[in-house]
Amino acid sequence: MNRKTKQILGRVSSIALLAVLSLFINFYRNTPDSETPLETSKRADIVEVHFIDVGQGDAILIEANDATMLIDAGENNKGKIVADYLESQHITKLDYVIGTHPHSDHIGGMDTVLNEFEIDKIIMPSATHTTDTFEDLLDAIKENDLKITRAAVGDQYNLGSATFTIIAPNSPQYEDLNNYSVVIKLTFGNTSFLFTGDAGKMSEEEMLSSGIDLSADVLKLAHHGSAYSSSGAFLDAVNPTYAMINVGKDNDYGHPHAETLQAMLDRNIKVYRTDEQGTVVFTSDGKNISVNTHDYKILENDLKN
Ligand SMILES: [Zn+2]
Repeated sequence: MNRKTKQILGRVSSIALLAVLSLFINFYRNTPDSETPLETSKRADIVEVHFIDVGQGDAILIEANDATMLIDAGENNKGKIVADYLESQHITKLDYVIGTHPHSDHIGGMDTVLNEFEIDKIIMPSATHTTDTFEDLLDAIKENDLKITRAAVGDQYNLGSATFTIIAPNSPQYEDLNNYSVVIKLTFGNTSFLFTGDAGKMSEEEMLSSGIDLSADVLKLAHHGSAYSSSGAFLDAVNPTYAMINVGKDNDYGHPHAETLQAMLDRNIKVYRTDEQGTVVFTSDGKNISVNTHDYKILENDLKN
């Protein structure tokens, strides 16, 4: 056999090998079992919580079976980011929209969402604010024929096979607008999530003395990790495994504050933050919770103010 024949034979046998391989691959690809269930099971009995990266502000999408909820929608100029994200999740309708409190980093983008999606119920606290941003939201509520459902502590709602309960605000009036934040606890099977808006220590004290079970696996840290929220007593009562911080890079407030991150370290709570990790998604099957990214390793520098 000369060299040329050998080369040709070698080529022919590797082509034959490839052909056999691709036959195998196609065979397994076309086996119906390996293909179908993924998309349907996602909608079956799983809850997904998407902490959408909107810079400094909050926007949280919750999908439970086919039911959907949006908590806050970021600043005025972030409405499109939120709407695009919802579209990427094939959402056309929201069963609930919660505007936690009237600050622009929470309700700024909400008018865009109300105008672009079909909304079933919008829940807000009994608080007003004399800003154009808040007026825009009220206009959008009116134009879309929606009626505000006032957040009332103890009210419980179904979201697919999950439920959520309103646990704050507990007082009719506050000096600090942040304390009006609607706080909800979402429960799915044995797992739970606590969403706190920008509730401050005063609201936390009220939740603590109300005697309600605050324990949750995942805590959305209040007020972007500010030290004016997340008191030790509150954190101990919630006793979360995971803490989520929705926060913008190099924000003007120094969020998240060093004290808050130190409190996470002291309690061995796994931290996730949108400024470092972008959008973070938690998934619960009712028993276990998984996260689409690793936790954030707190640095020495994070612990200095
Ligand atoms: Zn805020």
